[in-house]
Amino acid sequence: MFRLDGRIALVTGGSRGIGRSCCEALGAQGATVVVNYVKGEAAAREVADAIAAKGGKADLAGFDVADSKAVDASIGEVVSRHGKIDILIANAGIAIDGLLLRLKDEDLERLWAINVRGAIACARAASRTMMRARWGRIVFMSSVVGEMGNAGQTGYAATKAAVIGAAKSIAREYASRNVTANVVAPGYIDTDMTAGMTDAQKEQLMKVVPLGRTGTARDVAAACAYLCSEEAGYVTGQVLRVNGGMYM
Ligand code: NAD
Repeated sequence: MFRLDGRIALVTGGSRGIGRSCCEALGAQGATVVVNYVKGEAAAREVADAIAAKGGKADLAGFDVADSKAVDASIGEVVSRHGKIDILIANAGIAIDGLLLRLKDEDLERLWAINVRGAIACARAASRTMMRARWGRIVFMSSVVGEMGNAGQTGYAATKAAVIGAAKSIAREYASRNVTANVVAPGYIDTDMTAGMTDAQKEQLMKVVPLGRTGTARDVAAACAYLCSEEAGYVTGQVLRVNGGMYM
């Protein structure tokens, strides 16, 4: 079940963390994985090599999701090389935290440019080929805080709520073309993004996570792989929460 043989999958921000796990999970299911990176070419190459070492197929695409011209050009090149894109995991994202009164305009703009505009630009570019093929899977990476909010994360949480609205709209717009759009909303996952948490913060957090642990990038990747499968063909416009029960 959940095989992805013959599918071409683009994962943004695929060189580390959750993105890397998504690349590896999709590769293991048989997809040809295009690993997007912005600065970490060597790390992205390592991901591609790890997929190849397990008998999978991978390719690289370096571009900044916040640069919509680069997004269009690079996604166009991916389509020229592989003939199509069936799957997009719009995973690339940044977190800039801070209390509301200290939130800077430039931080808000950067958050918006990458987390929202970037994700939508990738979906717009990749969906052209999906519509033609009458098959596609788009997965946006949100966050538990996009649904429940979090003190000190007004800017970040707003961007993560925004992609839920985007996914639901695309789900409605493309349903007749057999292209689904869904959201994965991780809770607290052990990656570079959360590496700065203090032990006290982690302890506090565990009190509100019924499963009593932080999540792994593999936990999130498994949910993404499912949403990209043939078997998830009747699932669209949904938010799949991978958060240990922190928000239900
Ligand atoms: P991470 O910082 O390890 O990875 C983020 C990836 O996005 C990196 O590969 C980075 O290079 C890439 N990226 C950033 N800006 C980019 C740009 N302009 N163009 C292309 N790529 C860019 O963090 P992560 O924890 O793996 O996060 C992945 C996604 O999951 C993010 O969207 C994040 O908001 C979301 N998320 C993470 C957590 C968590 O607890 N770690 C929880 C909820 C949601």
